[in-house]
Amino acid sequence: MNRSSLCLSLTGATITENLQEIEKYNAYCDLYELRADYLEPLSISALSSFPEQVKKPVILTVRRAADGGHFKGSETERCGILRRSLASGYRYVDLEEDFQDQKTEQAAEVSGVTVIRSFYDFSGVPADLGRRLRNIKRNPGEVIKAAVMVQNTQELLKLVELALELKVRDGWGNRIILGMGPMGFPTRVLSTFLGSSITYSSTPGRQAAPGPVDPQTLVDLYRFPLIDENVRIFGVIGNPVIHSESPGLQNRGFSLRAMDDAVYLPFQVDNLEAFFRLAEVLDIRGVSVTIPHKQGVIPFLSSRDEGVEAAGACNTIVWRDGLRCGYNTDISGFTAPLKESMGGAIPAGLRAAVIGAGGAARAVVYALRREGVEVLILNRTVERAKELAAVFGCSYGSLGEQERIADYPDLIVQTTSVGMNQEDPEYDPIPDYSFKGGEIVYDIIYIPRLTPLLKRAVQSGCRVINGWDMLAAQAGIQFRLFTGQDFPREASSGIADQY
Ligand code: NAP
Repeated sequence: MNRSSLCLSLTGATITENLQEIEKYNAYCDLYELRADYLEPLSISALSSFPEQVKKPVILTVRRAADGGHFKGSETERCGILRRSLASGYRYVDLEEDFQDQKTEQAAEVSGVTVIRSFYDFSGVPADLGRRLRNIKRNPGEVIKAAVMVQNTQELLKLVELALELKVRDGWGNRIILGMGPMGFPTRVLSTFLGSSITYSSTPGRQAAPGPVDPQTLVDLYRFPLIDENVRIFGVIGNPVIHSESPGLQNRGFSLRAMDDAVYLPFQVDNLEAFFRLAEVLDIRGVSVTIPHKQGVIPFLSSRDEGVEAAGACNTIVWRDGLRCGYNTDISGFTAPLKESMGGAIPAGLRAAVIGAGGAARAVVYALRREGVEVLILNRTVERAKELAAVFGCSYGSLGEQERIADYPDLIVQTTSVGMNQEDPEYDPIPDYSFKGGEIVYDIIYIPRLTPLLKRAVQSGCRVINGWDMLAAQAGIQFRLFTGQDFPREASSGIADQY
């Protein structure tokens, strides 16, 4: 079975520091890349002692500034460092496509060190990358490597297509294709699928190149060792999306259900047309859709459920027989914790105030109206509140009309985006409203767990619901749509506790 090896790039200033990093991550890594361009002079002179202290293969790299490295000496000095070290047990040496020194190449050959012939581009994926890679090898035994900055979804598509084309033409392995930056992230996790023999990772806070994650995250969160060429790929599309909680939820769900052939990844997408082409190329089975694409994906769907039609937003796509089926799980995800807190059902005649009138508010208002709830919508931009109210038959007003909440006292739902991720940690959208203690207060923001609004509500004795409960509930519905199996509840507990 072909499997990519997981390499940790070592960027410590001393050999001792690098050995400490190895000790920390050794259980996760198959090999190491020693970035000698980060080393202090004293440690450079000790390079020959390094491989014997590491029980796994080591790549020796002395990268020039032009290729994103830190080496500032002359080329003669660089070649001298490489030549003096190659006979001491390094398995690979990384040499660039324009590397000129034959003596170093001969030293590698004599010592049985495999050359990784590298091409770097920090400005994007060059149009002629395929041609360049086809001509890059100088000796048949070399491993070819492209590490390129992925600037947009079109470039990710181009890189993935090239990797798969090379895999079909030349077979699996002896090649490394890596996309740098958040948009290139999927190439790091899917390296086995793409035919790359090695993927690279960094220790937290020490990125050798933009984009890599630490080995533990690749293994524990992204299930790297389980991914083979038959992997079923799922994901979340958004922009930005790299810090989404969804991969944690869905991948934990896969693990708890022993679905070893599935992985869920963040795809940072700036072009939906390119993404849907990429989805075909990767045979993606399902995606969650988040800001800013919930409306934009709708024209690409083959079918839409009632929630997508009503809320005008789609947060889930499942591919079935080549068809893209769109769903909105935010609606049921919102009502599930609410029903739970009300003993299983939302009582008739409930009166609710919804703060905000954006995309999420639309799903919330639809969900409440479907249950027969009377709704008042208050929003900063009153025109948006008015439009939403007209669609679903609600009352509306501006945020300055907080006294009106007293007529809708059963449930208050906060749907504005302001407090999310501590953007404004003090934000309370209704500071002039005094809780009576009987309200249920539901803030759909999930970080932090207790927003200023919820804190105030708790102090007044109100029952509160957190956005995490909604996220976990809608993720559970997505999991079922993706896999046909129930979402294990334990999948969300560990993550929620972090906040
Ligand atoms: P959106 O469409 O961009 O709407 C943003 C809303 O916030 C609008 O009502 C906007 O008012 C209001 N707003 C923004 N800045 C404001 C400010 N400074 N003062 C007052 N109001 C302000 O975003 P969305 O898709 O509705 O998402 C809203 C939030 O819900 C996000 O934080 C998202 O992460 C969260 N969410 C959570 C879940 C979950 O599962 N827990 C699911 C979906 C969404 P204007 O109309 O005046 O601009």
